[in-house]
Amino acid sequence: MTDAVKPPKKPRGKAALLEDKCIACGARCQSVCPVDAIQMTDAGEPIIDASRCIGCVKCVKVCPVQALEMSFTPEELRILEQLAGSAAPEVAEEDPEEAALRKRLAVYSGVWVFIEQTGGEAAKVSWELLGKGKELALARKAPLCAVVLGDNVEKLCLQAFGYGAEKVYLMDAPVLRHYRTESYQRSVCALVRKYLPEVILMGATGLGRDLAGVVATVLSTGLTADCTGLSIDDKGNLMQTRPAFGGNIMATIVCDKFRPQMSTVRPHVMSMPTFDSEAKGEIVREPVPVTEDEIQVKVLKILMDGGGGSDVDIAGAEFIISGGRGMMGKDNFAMLQELADVLGGVVGASRSAVDAGWMPPDRQVGQTGKTVRPKVYIACGISGAIQHLVGMQDSDVVIAINRDPEAPIFQVASYGIVGDLFRIIPALTGKLKALKAARS
Ligand code: FAD
Repeated sequence: MTDAVKPPKKPRGKAALLEDKCIACGARCQSVCPVDAIQMTDAGEPIIDASRCIGCVKCVKVCPVQALEMSFTPEELRILEQLAGSAAPEVAEEDPEEAALRKRLAVYSGVWVFIEQTGGEAAKVSWELLGKGKELALARKAPLCAVVLGDNVEKLCLQAFGYGAEKVYLMDAPVLRHYRTESYQRSVCALVRKYLPEVILMGATGLGRDLAGVVATVLSTGLTADCTGLSIDDKGNLMQTRPAFGGNIMATIVCDKFRPQMSTVRPHVMSMPTFDSEAKGEIVREPVPVTEDEIQVKVLKILMDGGGGSDVDIAGAEFIISGGRGMMGKDNFAMLQELADVLGGVVGASRSAVDAGWMPPDRQVGQTGKTVRPKVYIACGISGAIQHLVGMQDSDVVIAINRDPEAPIFQVASYGIVGDLFRIIPALTGKLKALKAARS
């Protein structure tokens, strides 16, 4: 009788840091290590105590830039080779925590877009989000759904189908006539608890910011505000990109342990999808889980904002001529207005110009101003700081006029004119006027 030869145990290896790859993301590896084998240097890079490491691979998995890998001794490598060559296929060891998380998240499915409406009119940003939502839904092989709340708003369901939704969850009742945080929060949360979507997108408008924040809090999930980019990673998580640290870096945020993943996006950041008037879908009518008596806030009167600003919506304009500190003074903006009049556009401004009092705040383009996506954006005397660029870099055509050839605005410009704006702009306006006159 011979003893059965036991196969050697699969070596687990030790975590090791790859040189020059760590981005000091904030000690994610250290926070997941179950045996305190990782300490951080002042520069934010991990030092791994190999004598403590148990090869659980958690740090390797959490690293956003693959700066950690498992390392093996020559003997361990020999065993691994031997195991790989052995007949019996090896069953991958499953981390029980990971398996439980995967199971918990797997019940969530579908991309939802909240359709914001006022008086039965949908906010355009909701349709823009359906366009982006379609891409995400395709990547997840999941349905794209819209959520419509209001009073007498069924017509919005048909519009939502036209912009790509396959299904609309509709709550239609007088209690939802006007937006109130409590009634809307309770309605959205009831829908989420019942249908378990994996992604919810809302416009980063006053209403959307209010609602998204409270819904995420009640559902104990993550919310990324003011996203400028959304995509799906290879694990199926939503990658939510937004400016961080005063706009100096673009951060990509992942909510990998909770569902739904929630994001808000400002108007004009995503492009408008084409409308298909033939599109059809399913309307799922749901009862409203709240009565008027339960809501403490009452809408007594609606006072329309008389337009304390300038009545000009730069966010929706197709031609924007923006001026910065290089305009040197308030009066010089008349020159931009003249060019805007010829082009049928509007005048925008950098924050420096607004801070100087040369233009009203509602004309500010950028991170703390408006996000614009015109057909043509002409930047005059604007250096192109990142906080300005995030608000206009998705314009179809960018024309930059600056006397500094090194100005960063030229990096996003389709056409750049290096020179003195006080000579270039009047010449441009004159030429356009002459062309127009010749045509008429
Ligand atoms: P400058 O940077 O001073 O540039 C002036 C430009 O004019 C220069 O490039 C110069 O070469 C050119 N120039 C001067 N004279 C002439 C001439 N005769 N002819 C041609 N060119 C000329 N900024 C925004 O715009 N929007 C925002 O929403 C915003 N949000 C911010 C949020 C935070 C948290 C922070 C910290 C900053 C923010 N900023 C924002 C400010 C931003 O960092 C810049 O300071 C600002 O955009 C600079 O404005 P500017 O380009 O007009 O001025």
